[in-house]
Amino acid sequence: MNIARIALDVPLAGPFDYLATDITENDIGRRVVVPFGPRKLTGIVIDVASTSEYAPSKLKSVITLHHDMPPLPQDVLDTCRFCADYYQHPFGQVIFTGLPVRLRQTAAYHRPPGTHWQLTELGSNQLQGRISARAPTQQRLYATLQSGPLAVEQAQQVAANAPATLRQWAREGWVARCIPPMAEQFPLTPLPALNIEQQAAITAIQSQPGFAVTLLHGITGSGKTEVYLQLIAAELAAGRQVLVLIPEINLTPQLTVRFSARFPNRCIVSLHSALADGERADNWLTAQCGQADIVLGTRLAVFTPLPRLGMIIVDEEHDSSFKQQEGLRYSARDVAVFRARLRQIPVVLGSATPALETYHNAHTGRYRLAKLNKRAVDVAELPIVKTIDTRRLLLQDGLSDDMVNALNARLLAGEQSLVFINRRGFAPVLFCGECGWIAGCQRCSARLVVHLRERQLRCHLCGYEESVPSACPDCGNQDIRPLGVGTQRIEAALTERLPQARILRVDRDATRRKEAFNTMLANIHGGKVDILVGTQMLAKGHDFPNLSLVCVLNADSGLYSADFRATERLFSLLMQVSGRAGRAGIPGEVLIQTQFPDHPLLHALVAHDFDSYAKRLLEERRQAHFPPFLYQAVLRAEAQDLELAIAFLDQAKQFAHALNSPVDLFDPVPAALTRLAGWARAQLLVQHPSRAILQTLLRNWIPQLHTLNERQVRWIIDVDPLEV
Ligand code: ADP
Ligand code: ZN
Ligand code: ZN
Repeated sequence: MNIARIALDVPLAGPFDYLATDITENDIGRRVVVPFGPRKLTGIVIDVASTSEYAPSKLKSVITLHHDMPPLPQDVLDTCRFCADYYQHPFGQVIFTGLPVRLRQTAAYHRPPGTHWQLTELGSNQLQGRISARAPTQQRLYATLQSGPLAVEQAQQVAANAPATLRQWAREGWVARCIPPMAEQFPLTPLPALNIEQQAAITAIQSQPGFAVTLLHGITGSGKTEVYLQLIAAELAAGRQVLVLIPEINLTPQLTVRFSARFPNRCIVSLHSALADGERADNWLTAQCGQADIVLGTRLAVFTPLPRLGMIIVDEEHDSSFKQQEGLRYSARDVAVFRARLRQIPVVLGSATPALETYHNAHTGRYRLAKLNKRAVDVAELPIVKTIDTRRLLLQDGLSDDMVNALNARLLAGEQSLVFINRRGFAPVLFCGECGWIAGCQRCSARLVVHLRERQLRCHLCGYEESVPSACPDCGNQDIRPLGVGTQRIEAALTERLPQARILRVDRDATRRKEAFNTMLANIHGGKVDILVGTQMLAKGHDFPNLSLVCVLNADSGLYSADFRATERLFSLLMQVSGRAGRAGIPGEVLIQTQFPDHPLLHALVAHDFDSYAKRLLEERRQAHFPPFLYQAVLRAEAQDLELAIAFLDQAKQFAHALNSPVDLFDPVPAALTRLAGWARAQLLVQHPSRAILQTLLRNWIPQLHTLNERQVRWIIDVDPLEV
């Protein structure tokens, strides 16, 4: 009897046994279509067996075995298996998380045929012997193919009957359609000579073959990307593929351009969620069949099959977008490290502001450390960072006179400035001075943000909208006011105070239309903008050569937050923003408005001292028993009523208690954001200094929760949560 074990995209542990006469070990990793209840589902063969614990009469048969892609390789299946165990998520759903949408569907996937013809290996070996000396056009066609891929439309220029001949040869397996490298034979730009620190980093990373994690800790502009490029060049020269994970690809088009410019003859594909389904499937298959040399992708790309994988690079490894916040709550950085270990290859984690977890690993010897302490271009010096103490100042629309004057001075000098404020909209609060009413979201425990231009109040969490009321709904007072500042208000205030300046607001509202962001970047680079008002969209990875002043507003809320990670995030964000100032020859300046100029975080920023502040934060975490000195998992529950969610967590806690594990079990509590989009939310934290002990508890505990068959409560386990 032939049994195929199939992983399905269903919230059950699986795998599921099916009868399959024609499926063998060689089909492990292939797509199949199977009946599942009343439906037909796509599945992946993960094992074949000769017996099943179910009677053969109970088993259904596989409907279709697809041959539209090579099977998923073992290392991808193993990586998925690891994620299923570590994050306590159904194995089938993990596999499908990594698959492009088109390949999750039951229909066979037909890749659009390649634009070129090329010789196959078989053709290179056999064809010459088969062509008769009296067939000069065939000889000519063969010679053309030997020199490289031939565009389908150009075949006719070689010989009138070439298209027919090529189809004939394709039937014999001698030629195949392909997508060639983007361009051929570009002149290679001379590589910049590496400085001593860069060279040392590369030597360190290349010195040890096999698995090793290296933190490349380099200040902004120190040449980390150049290090990646030269590491990649070496891998490509050795015939290997490189996977490069980056936070948000559409925010960093410059990086993509830089890669293509450096490797014009290589096949570079990108993988991210903004791609059309077909394009994503094609790029994924290009990587899987070994044709892509470099995969540049966001977190989901960590699951891409890469037969010749030689190295993984995670750029901006501290970025929170590497952690998926729904479904399979994985950290792509951590999965990358796991996968590299599995493949026995090096992984490079790069950042100017490493995550404290990574930093700790690098300073305790688990990871290796390579540092770049200087900016790569001699003339580019670090900016001067100053605080503006706002305690005794009268701010107009949130702006101090010093800041406006500094902006004016840069304007007169013809240089660009960035006003950074991490809040979009006009004002975060609409307030009645008579009765104290504040506009709140009906569905979330959050305030509605005033969007004055659209005359709307919007919830930034759930998307709820209503128009701005003309009077207070509680007391009828007509004088209700927006409090606080957002990007729109700063844009309006600066337009009024610096009327000659060309001001551009860059936030999620302004870039909603596709391509809007690219147009804005082009305008900024083209010198058509004097002052940028923007959110963290502009903080990351952009290189604006003419930008010399960065102004930071409203950073204070992160200084004293209940969330123990808030200071780490704020510090990293402000260091990144400051890094935008003065990158190419213009001395940069950073001005930070604050009520707490003596906060150690600000002192560290002024001194450009990441290390001492990171060490201080780590010491605080050690004393307070926070990660990375212990490991956490949070069981999150949502229900219509908070009581239901808490009751579920109480029950869960009792289960955990009965397991007699040394793991710390906290009491269920309402989440910091108690209501979100109509759901009441609560959570239960568990933690222990040993990852293994915590994992053992999760393995025994979470399956029990599935047996509760809870219908009124949605719940999820979040391992290594970023928010507690
Ligand atoms: P990072 O990724 O650390 O921000 P980049 O790699 O983008 O830094 O380098 C910053 C700037 O310095 C870029 O314009 C880059 O071309 C340049 N650069 C990097 N390395 C060198 C080098 N060894 N010699 C000259 N210029 C360099
Ligand atoms: Zn009122
Ligand atoms: Zn809401």
